[in-house]
Amino acid sequence: MSEKFLSGKIALITGSTSGIGLGIAKSLAHAGADIVLNGFGDHRSAEQDIQSMGVKTLFHGADMRKPLEIQDMVDSVKKSWGTVDILVNNAGIQHVSSIENFPTEKWDDVLAINLSSSFHTTRWVLPGMREKNWGRILNIASVHGLVASANKSAYVAAKHGLVGLTKVTALETATTGITCNAICPGWVLTPLVQQQVDAKAKTMEISIDAATKLLLSEKEPSMQFTTPAELGALAVFLCSTAGNNVRGVAWNMDGGWAAQ
Ligand code: NAD
Repeated sequence: MSEKFLSGKIALITGSTSGIGLGIAKSLAHAGADIVLNGFGDHRSAEQDIQSMGVKTLFHGADMRKPLEIQDMVDSVKKSWGTVDILVNNAGIQHVSSIENFPTEKWDDVLAINLSSSFHTTRWVLPGMREKNWGRILNIASVHGLVASANKSAYVAAKHGLVGLTKVTALETATTGITCNAICPGWVLTPLVQQQVDAKAKTMEISIDAATKLLLSEKEPSMQFTTPAELGALAVFLCSTAGNNVRGVAWNMDGGWAAQ
């Protein structure tokens, strides 16, 4: 496998202005893919970092709650560069609350961003992938797509749903050169998790360091965060020829979390 084996491929990564999405975008760029970034907040430094690897970038600020904006993103990529070869459904949010107190609008947002957006991106990229008879769809689920935790009803429901969508997509493309798999990280120290560490420190009146150790010790036997670069390396593997017949898998990288 040459280092730039993804040269000429177009990769669209949702929610790639930060965290895991940005890490995966950098790994795919390192392997030569041109990158379409999406997400909120500042995207310029991400674009500069990726362009410095010698690949092209585009940015589209589609809100993953809005199907028409998602369609516009896929159409814009097609008009500018062509059809998407690698789709990484990564955008996601979290909300922590008991079911009785879970705000309905938060439930709707978590389900829209963490699950429904992947249905929309998938249905709009599949025709182009079928024409080329090649494609990779990577759904960034979570260990919470395999097991549950209290107070994360919407997130756990969405991620279990995303693992289900992954299997159906894999079956519907099983005789083609298109594969679809889910990646299921345990704790990764991104802004999404830092918020949970900060909330724990505040509620328990402990230091950030103590809250971080507590968070890990509750769930992750390795007591180590997975990194965006490690997840990026797994994404690159799944895009390689060695991944040609990996289909419908939910691959956890979770420090032993789901093994318990
Ligand atoms: P993050 O908060 O660092 O990044 C989330 C990204 O999604 C950002 O780019 C943000 O702008 C974007 N985003 C949020 N709402 C959006 C919307 N409505 N439209 C478009 N973009 C939107 O979070 P992260 O930890 O990197 O999470 C990325 C994915 O990985 C999520 O799906 C998350 O559920 C999953 N995940 C994270 C962890 C972890 O421990 N951090 C573990 C398992 C799974």
